[in-house]
Amino acid sequence: VAKYDYDLVVLGAGPAGEKGAVQAAYFKKKVAIIEREAAPGGAAVHTGTLPSKTLRETALFLSGYRQNELYGVSVAVDRELAAPKLLSRKDAVVESEVERFRWNFERHGVTCIRGRARIVDAHTAEIEVAEGQSQNPATLRITAEVFLIATGSAPFHPPNIPFDDPHVDDSDEILKMDRLPATMTVLGGGVIGCEYATMFAAMGVKVTLVEGRDRLLPFLDQEMGERLSASMKTLGIDILLKEKPLHAKRVEGRGIVCTMESGKELDCERLLVASGRTGRTKDLGLDAVGVEVDKRGYVVVDQNYKTKVPNIYAAGDVIGFPALASTSMEQARVAVCHAFGLTYKDHMSTLLPYGIYTIPEVSSVGLSEEDAEAKKIDYVVGRALYRDNARGKIIGDNDGVIKLVFEKASRKLIGCHIIGDRASELVHIGQAVITLNGTVDTLIDMVFNYPTLGETFKYAAYDALGNMKQGAS
Ligand SMILES: Cc1cc2nc3c(=O)[nH]c(=O)nc-3n(C[C@H](O)[C@H](O)[C@H](O)COP(=O)(O)OP(=O)(O)OC[C@H]3O[C@@H](n4cnc5c(N)ncnc54)[C@H](O)[C@@H]3O)c2cc1C
Repeated sequence: VAKYDYDLVVLGAGPAGEKGAVQAAYFKKKVAIIEREAAPGGAAVHTGTLPSKTLRETALFLSGYRQNELYGVSVAVDRELAAPKLLSRKDAVVESEVERFRWNFERHGVTCIRGRARIVDAHTAEIEVAEGQSQNPATLRITAEVFLIATGSAPFHPPNIPFDDPHVDDSDEILKMDRLPATMTVLGGGVIGCEYATMFAAMGVKVTLVEGRDRLLPFLDQEMGERLSASMKTLGIDILLKEKPLHAKRVEGRGIVCTMESGKELDCERLLVASGRTGRTKDLGLDAVGVEVDKRGYVVVDQNYKTKVPNIYAAGDVIGFPALASTSMEQARVAVCHAFGLTYKDHMSTLLPYGIYTIPEVSSVGLSEEDAEAKKIDYVVGRALYRDNARGKIIGDNDGVIKLVFEKASRKLIGCHIIGDRASELVHIGQAVITLNGTVDTLIDMVFNYPTLGETFKYAAYDALGNMKQGAS
């Protein structure tokens, strides 16, 4: 007789929960996954990644953004019609992705339980079973050899912001709007703030973006960050740096008024607060079981994603940085493999690509120029412009740039940074070359399809080669 009801019980059916559960089931473990919402998918499917990327495509399409440079087509977006069009497109994408989650659980034999879970001791979870479910009684207890906490994160709500006002949103609420506003203030110039700022600006909303630091997205290669800021200004976005909000309130005749610490006041029809996120751990009973949680609510784990309790693991947004769907899935796979001694995957690659779906798109992998300087690496940079590339000309992206960073002595590619159409796809070429220890010569040797944006890699490599010979960067 088995000691526990399940080998693995997963809390939360977002990207981390899904991949963790399915990974274990693939290796013949008996797995249950508990999800409090009616549909699986988590933030990635319902409120974050897919909805925001669908908005991006809708914004590009409705505004005629991609066609602007080619045919001089500038389309005024109908503010009443844009929101319903976006919502119906988003719903279709969400529905089909939810089906994929369900099918993946079914074909791997993962038991799905709808309810809110908490851990009551190292091997027992208590589930408040959602109404209308076949599982009875209303509170269910199940035991497991291993737990994987994958409950994700929630938007952080700074004080003095009236989130109960229907025109004040966090990033989970923003896409429920029924019409586009004329003006919007975005508090927070991180990835989510920058992405939404550019999408709404492309659809004709007058956007003001407020950031407390002295530059946007400081983890980006500085040149790429500056190019992005310039493009955002061209889109009509007012970027206010080194400004921190003190409070916001509704003022008759002015809309929502945000007052900055500097005394500056910003009026807008709609306010989006994108001030980071916090781990969803409050009601999980973790304290009592001995699982450590830090002050932002994130579960503390070791390099194998194991918590302070040896049979309890955590992965995804609930453990904090980098908090991406891409990394959440991989962390969960590694966690489950470690928990059950499966040797085929024992770590997550340290070479992580970053995709920022602003307009234009930015993506990077490996070292920035500033990273190389800080590490005292003697490096050389090569650039290629989309406007000098045949495909770039055809699609009319005049501002796209690819920048490659090579270590001079070994000639190895160590960093790849792209701004422009398809950047988050193209960056994988750079990622593969770095992973395989490729050099400037590898890229020069490769034959690329013509015409493609991929070919810019070859020309950036030629540029770097020239700079190596001249001793310049
Ligand atoms: C606007 C926005 C844009 C984003 N864009 C990108 C992007 O372009 N690329 C990218 O890689 N990432 C992106 N992300 C991040 C991505 O959405 C997250 O990293 C990812 O969803 C994390 O997955 P997860 O499984 O850890 O958590 P989640 O997706 O949050 O899933 C957690 C699940 O746990 C459930 N749950 C919580 N508590 C309980 C409980 N007590 N009992 C049962 N179930 C529970 C929740 O209902 C939820 O379904 C974006 C996020 C946002 C907000």
